[in-house]
Amino acid sequence: MDACSDPAVREVVVMAGAQLGKTEAILNIIGFHMDHDPCPVLVLQPTLEMAQAFSKDRVAAGLIRATPAIRGKVKDPRSRDANNTTLHKVFPGGALTIVGANSPAGLASRPIRLVLCDEVDRYPTSAGSEGDPIQLARKRAATFWNRKLVMVSTPTNKNDSRIESAYLGSDQRKYFVPCRHCGQEQELKWQNVIWSDGDPDTARYACEGCGTAWTDSDRAHAIARGHWVAHEEFKGIAGFSINGLYSPWTPLADGVRDFLAVKKNPQQLRVWTNTYLGETWEDEGETVDEYSLADRRESFNEKVPEEVMVLTAGVDVQDNRLEVQIYGWGRDDESWVIDHRIMYGDPSTPQTWTTLASVLFSTWETHDGRELPIRGTCIDSGGHHTQAVYQFAKRHAAHRVFAIKGIGGEIGSKPIVGRPSKNNAAKCPLFPIGVDTAKDLLFSRFKISEEGPGYIHFSEHLPDEFFKQLTAEKVVTRYHKGYSKRTFVKVRPRNEALDCMVYATAAYVIIGVNVNAIASKLEESRQSAEEEPVMPAPVSRIARPGRSARKGGFVNNWR
Ligand SMILES: [Zn+2]
Repeated sequence: MDACSDPAVREVVVMAGAQLGKTEAILNIIGFHMDHDPCPVLVLQPTLEMAQAFSKDRVAAGLIRATPAIRGKVKDPRSRDANNTTLHKVFPGGALTIVGANSPAGLASRPIRLVLCDEVDRYPTSAGSEGDPIQLARKRAATFWNRKLVMVSTPTNKNDSRIESAYLGSDQRKYFVPCRHCGQEQELKWQNVIWSDGDPDTARYACEGCGTAWTDSDRAHAIARGHWVAHEEFKGIAGFSINGLYSPWTPLADGVRDFLAVKKNPQQLRVWTNTYLGETWEDEGETVDEYSLADRRESFNEKVPEEVMVLTAGVDVQDNRLEVQIYGWGRDDESWVIDHRIMYGDPSTPQTWTTLASVLFSTWETHDGRELPIRGTCIDSGGHHTQAVYQFAKRHAAHRVFAIKGIGGEIGSKPIVGRPSKNNAAKCPLFPIGVDTAKDLLFSRFKISEEGPGYIHFSEHLPDEFFKQLTAEKVVTRYHKGYSKRTFVKVRPRNEALDCMVYATAAYVIIGVNVNAIASKLEESRQSAEEEPVMPAPVSRIARPGRSARKGGFVNNWR
């Protein structure tokens, strides 16, 4: 509330647990401006229904009617005064407008000096089709030199939380309290809460300085003497974060009791983490560690391992380059990332595609002397240079080059490869790829740590950046009105390595070869060659240093 009246502060961000007085603070700010510093005020609630409830229960009943200083300044909406409705209240020198973040109409028109955004993590991504509700509200305040934006919320899911991202952009203040026994100032953290086995009534807070187990009265004593400490430079945005341990109204035992009740249920633990700790929730076990994958790099000794039966390729098209991944397949979906190349060049020029063709249509030599061609290639047409991709795919259809387009959506809702269509000007067959489903498959394979079915091998020539990109996305579970949805989100801007892997996998699905049958046949022919040494070996063991070494070699030109 002090920050709201500080002229140096442009924005105020409060990330906190539930029942810590966030909305009460908003009401106090409204009351202050009705009485002392009248101006146009906008309050944003997540929905229109919540805006109406907030107006009736909190503003009209709780604030206006109960506060003598402002009671006479705002007319009752029942007085048939057109200036006063549930969602719009005029007072001398200003007005209070309350809107739902889901209602674009409420966010248009009137200029506003003070914008108060409540429970921002429950806002829709877009107000109707008008865009981000907070940005819309921000625009309304643009003409006031002394404008102020206040954002307040209990956080939700990591990477998906407006309030956390706003807090991270602020000066990140935390509340430090002194120990009554040793004087050490500290932030109250859940990890310092102690209790004896399963008994919440024994809950105490262990001081970080002297280890004394604080009672609730010690805790209240400390909180009353605390102060805010910023952890980042102040650039006009004051950010405050606070958890349930600071609540003077909630005994510590209640927090522990709730925790014990929910700790085994991730869905309930998520709610507790958001509302009591005031922290975002991150799904565990849904990320892949780039280091553990990078540590698996192995030497293929400059040839394709002999377990590989079939090669496919995946190509990602960017504005200044093509990236191609050569991918090997063995028995039971064991696979090998043979190479990943970046070919710089403008994809609108033929030379770039000629270079790609020279890679795709060469062969790769295996350790047992076979020459493997690439049996299928998928090229992304969904982003850049769509027409050039169509032309290349059509021209090289005989080489099984396919144009594809990634389709997003919930994991499992789309097959890895859908039915192709020719609904494009080039009449090129276009395969829809369920990218989230494919990534889910790859991520489950990343977790396989023993060689054999499903295991993915990585060449020692793949650079660290490759593994950063493979893990550039992660699964998040989004919760909305009690319904959850799993999708991939980017946590790093570049992810071509992962995309190419998806496309090479899609190519393997499209060509539909039976790798196990090929492997068995090869074994049979080897065995019969051993039994009857007079027969010529079906597989040539004569080293041909020509094509594969020249074109399909393992030059690492990653940049
Ligand atoms: Zn102490």
